[in-house]
Amino acid sequence: MRTTPPIRVRNLVAAFGDNVVLRDVSLDVAAGEILVIMGGSGSGKSTLLRHMLGLLKPVSGDMELLGIDTASATDKQWMALRRRMGVAFQSGALFSSMNVGDNIRLPLRERTGLDPETIDIMMRIKLDVVNLPGCEDLMPAELSGGMIKRAALARALIMDPELLFLDEPSAGLDPVIAASLDELLLQLRDATGMSVVVITHELESAFKIADRICVLDRGEVIALGTVDEVRNSDSERVQALLTRKVESPKFEPQAYLQQLIGASSARRVN
Ligand code: ADP
Ligand code: MG
Repeated sequence: MRTTPPIRVRNLVAAFGDNVVLRDVSLDVAAGEILVIMGGSGSGKSTLLRHMLGLLKPVSGDMELLGIDTASATDKQWMALRRRMGVAFQSGALFSSMNVGDNIRLPLRERTGLDPETIDIMMRIKLDVVNLPGCEDLMPAELSGGMIKRAALARALIMDPELLFLDEPSAGLDPVIAASLDELLLQLRDATGMSVVVITHELESAFKIADRICVLDRGEVIALGTVDEVRNSDSERVQALLTRKVESPKFEPQAYLQQLIGASSARRVN
C-alpha cells in the first residue's frame, strides 16, 4: 500500500541565478484529485510544473513522485517515471509537420515496442476519448484552437499516465469550448483515478474542475485548499487575485515606469 500521495512536494525552493522564483512550496496531490495551480503572470506556476517534470533541479526541498524520491532518482528511474506521466504544455502543443495521428502515436513509437497495429488502435481510442474521432489524418493547421488542445490532451494521455500535468489547457479558447474541455477533464479524472495538476488563470474553470486550489504569489503558496476554502479566504492577497485587483501597496515611480514600459511593449506584441 502506498503511504505517500502520488505527488508530494516539500519546501521546494527554486531560482534562476539570484532570482528566487519558488519559496518553500509544499503540496500534495492525491490519486483521483485535480489540483489547480493559480497565480498572476510570473508567479512561478510554469516553473513549479517544470520542477515536477524533472526538467529543472530545485535549489532545495524534496519531491516524491509515485513513491520515488526525485532528488536521488537515477536517469533510468526518471525515464521510467516519465512513462507514467502525461504532459501538455501551454505552447507548442503539436508538431506542425505531423498529422494528428502521428503526433499522438509519437510517444508510443518512441517509448514502447508495440507493433504499429496496436499503436494505431490505441491512438484511435484516445482520439475518441477527447471527442476527435476520425481526425487522425488532419494536420494541426487544419484544426481549431479547441481541437488542438484536445489532440494535445490525447497525446498526453496516450500512455495512460498516472500523473497528468496541463499548463493552461483552455487558454485562448472560447468559453463554450473551454467548458467542454473542463467537462472532459472531470470525466477523465473520475474514469482513471489520475492525479492531475492543471495550471490555469481562468477562475471559472478553476472553480469548476478543482478538487483543491493552490494559489501562488511571487513564488509563495498563499492559499491551498478546497474551492470553498480558497474562495472564502480572508487573505487580501488571495482575494486580490480572485477579483483580479491590481495590488499597489505604495507608489514607486521606478516600478510604475517599468510597468508602463512593460505594458506598452506587451501591447506591441499583441
Ligand atoms: P508563470 O508561469 O506563473 O507566469 P513562470 O514560472 O514562467 O511564471 O516564471 C516565474 C519567474 O521566473 C518569472 O520572474 C520569470 O521571469 C522567471 N523565469 C521563468 N523561466 C525562466 C528561465 N528559463 N530563466 C530565467 N528566469 C525564468
Ligand atoms: Mg506560465
